Amino acid sequence: MSDYNASWGFDTFCIRGGHTAESNRAHLTPLYASSTYTFDSAEQSINVFKGDEKGYIYGRWGNPTINEAEEKIALLEAFSLTDASGNPLQLKAILHSSGMAALCTMIMGNMKAGQKLLTHFSLYGGTHELVEKILPNFGIEPVIIDFHDLDKVEAAVKADKSITLLHLETPANPTLQCIDLEALASLGKKYNLTVCVDNTFATPYLQQPFKYEVDFVMHSTTKFLNGHGTAIGGILVGRDIEKMNTSITKTHRLFGGNSNAFDAFLLTNGLRTFGLRMERHCSNASQVAGYLNNHTGVAHVNYLGLDNHPDHALAQRQMKHPGAMLSFELKGGFDAAIRFMNNLKMCTNAVSLGTCDTLLSHPASTTHMGVSREQRLKFGITDGLIRMSVGFENINDILNDLEQAI
Ligand SMILES: *Cc1c(COP(=O)(O)O)cnc(C)c1O
Repeated sequence: MSDYNASWGFDTFCIRGGHTAESNRAHLTPLYASSTYTFDSAEQSINVFKGDEKGYIYGRWGNPTINEAEEKIALLEAFSLTDASGNPLQLKAILHSSGMAALCTMIMGNMKAGQKLLTHFSLYGGTHELVEKILPNFGIEPVIIDFHDLDKVEAAVKADKSITLLHLETPANPTLQCIDLEALASLGKKYNLTVCVDNTFATPYLQQPFKYEVDFVMHSTTKFLNGHGTAIGGILVGRDIEKMNTSITKTHRLFGGNSNAFDAFLLTNGLRTFGLRMERHCSNASQVAGYLNNHTGVAHVNYLGLDNHPDHALAQRQMKHPGAMLSFELKGGFDAAIRFMNNLKMCTNAVSLGTCDTLLSHPASTTHMGVSREQRLKFGITDGLIRMSVGFENINDILNDLEQAI
């Protein structure tokens, strides 16, 4: 366990949290490129295997470079929260090869055939496909409901005792719809459901689901946590330490979705500036949203900081800031969107999000191309909709590029 002081501020945790002094006195935790670990004696190996002595055994089970990233993220998700006795909240995090691997460990470690997973519309595309197309092959069926309608959610849970897990994403891609974390977490508790929140879009800088006593938080660390677009990764964070150390650890190890030293090193490096980066991401996004909202070529802007967003009040309640993600609809529809994407001179045409540079994408012709137009429109993904992950180039350069492209 690393040394830290519970009274530290958020940025101090970003920089110092999770770090353990290293035996060769390297300033930063090196890249542990070693698949296995040695023992001094047979007795020592017995103690390490039994868990009586801390030590690394085999690379799929973890290593010091991976451990630092895990502890840092656990500390950030727990930041300033307390447990039932008023002590700093303890969480355990396990780093995976991707966000999808972390999600699979969460589901496979908590569910069995015959049980149902309750979730909502407009999930991350990969998550949606996993619950609709893959999990049913293993006897786990999804129940998909609009989580804005709490009565309907409660009725569904009451009516079907095989629902055991509730998974939600807020804000959701690409319309930034929010879900009431407090209400859903308490409903989950009332009916004894396992509750998991995908906190990728918000990050612990903006929103801490453990405040509402959810069971798990997962992230694609590929996005804001890494922040530089250098590695794919995912983390599963849990509040039941015993469960994390037993059944969840076993699931993680046996499905084999482990991370690796290089990606973990890049993640830790990115996390050191996480607080600073988020500040600039957010202030730039507010300015971009204001600019687009007043632009005659733009029909509509989805940004949680604008009071015309249907979830503006909810976001103000559960998020520290409306964040760095937004989407906007160009007046000219599909053709205008294609023209706009081709006109961009500085901003980057790419999917993904949360990198230093501003990324834009046109969902109707890319990520949501496979979804029928009727279905797309139902989710607010119109033909002229552009999704934007606002980076932290100088704000005037971002605005100038948008201006000439629109
Ligand atoms: C990217 C993303 C994922 C999947 O993460 P990978 O690292 O690509 O596996 C899951 N949820 C959300 C909200 C995402 O944005």
